[in-house]
Amino acid sequence: LPDTTPTALDVLHSVFGFESFRGEQQAIVDQVIAGGDAVVLMPTGGGKSLCYQVPSLVREGTGIVVSPLIALMQDQVDALLAVGVRAAFLNSTQDAVERDRVERAYLAGELDLLYVAPERLSSESTKRFLANGRIALFAIDEAHCVSQWGHDFRPDYLALGELAERWPDVPRIALTATATDATHREITNRLHMQNAAHFVASFDRPNIQYRIVPKNEPRKQLVDFIRKEGAGQAGIVYALSRNTVEKTAAHLQANGIHALPYHAGLDASLRQKTQARFLREDGIVIVATIAFGMGIDKPDVRFVAHIDLPKSVEGYYQETGRAGRDGEPSVAWLAYGLQDVVQQRRMIDESPGDLAHRRRMSAHLDAMLALCETVECRRTNLLSYFGQPSEPCGNCDTCLDSPEVWDGTIPAQKLLST
Ligand code: ADP
Ligand code: MG
Ligand code: ZN
Repeated sequence: LPDTTPTALDVLHSVFGFESFRGEQQAIVDQVIAGGDAVVLMPTGGGKSLCYQVPSLVREGTGIVVSPLIALMQDQVDALLAVGVRAAFLNSTQDAVERDRVERAYLAGELDLLYVAPERLSSESTKRFLANGRIALFAIDEAHCVSQWGHDFRPDYLALGELAERWPDVPRIALTATATDATHREITNRLHMQNAAHFVASFDRPNIQYRIVPKNEPRKQLVDFIRKEGAGQAGIVYALSRNTVEKTAAHLQANGIHALPYHAGLDASLRQKTQARFLREDGIVIVATIAFGMGIDKPDVRFVAHIDLPKSVEGYYQETGRAGRDGEPSVAWLAYGLQDVVQQRRMIDESPGDLAHRRRMSAHLDAMLALCETVECRRTNLLSYFGQPSEPCGNCDTCLDSPEVWDGTIPAQKLLST
């Protein structure tokens, strides 16, 4: 073997078996390999992992990956081990023996990638330990968790800004699929990424068809939708409460659909098992609260359905983004009713936060309502929310069946058929 450092493309070919980089991956990887910081905004399924995995293999030392998804670390590490990457994780699920083994491997320079839970990296003892080894880079995945106003805030992420001062010479890459300007600014400021290069990918997911229907009998509508368009396919149904999740899953089961409930009130081992079944078996429909889904890499999810109004466009976009990661046609289906609006307004009014917080929640809801009520292209509305202008897509409900046409023809058809 030649005694030279492999290039990024060598690693992409020989380790991951891919032909070429996608979109901005190459530019991002080059920036980090050269020792620079990067902030990466890329939609779900865009290929963020390679942006830090490849540089970790090219640069000397271990890539330290901060991820809030403890439940998924095992899967991520297993996938890397399977292609010969020396990867491990440190989190609260390990016993002392296991932890010790991982720590010694790191100190001996035998790890390419080390996944660490954020609460560990905020502790002084972990930082002292890391300082005794060689760090190739820090990757901060799901970086929007640093945003206090976002939908996934994790207090431990706030401490990650200190990495810049402690390790000024180690490149850092922050990655997220949340694309608003506000989140982008917060990531930059709180993670001290003022000198980073910024990479903002297009947030369009052209293979996802967005559809929003008036809600009248949500469970029946859902069954009809799944039977007609998602029969035998993997899908996710989102509801806001545990109670609705349980009832909806039972209703789907009673109608012959292979549905499983998932919410934070269920036993951790059962949740783990449900998630594993969803990933490994075909055609399972998960009915879940938003506790389900972040970081889940299942390429062939054919539909994401919402039977309750999401609280924000950011949340809606992330949840629907779990459909069609393989690029094949997929549907994002939402049943929207006035009752949801009334209920969410009440929840905001009664929420314990200060006035500024309530205003912000209210603005989030208003943007979601604007998406539901638009008579123009849903995709254009969605992308403009993320600051990206676009033409009407021709593949959403309003493009395919514009409300002006609909208003006239449906009543006329009804008249004719009675
Ligand atoms: P994200 O974290 O942005 O949601 P992932 O990193 O999980 O996305 O990648 C999504 C999928 O795309 C994975 O299955 C990954 O292997 C695949 N992928 C990423 N980059 C490439 C590439 N350059 N060529 C082929 N497949 C890729
Ligand atoms: Mg990811
Ligand atoms: Zn459209």
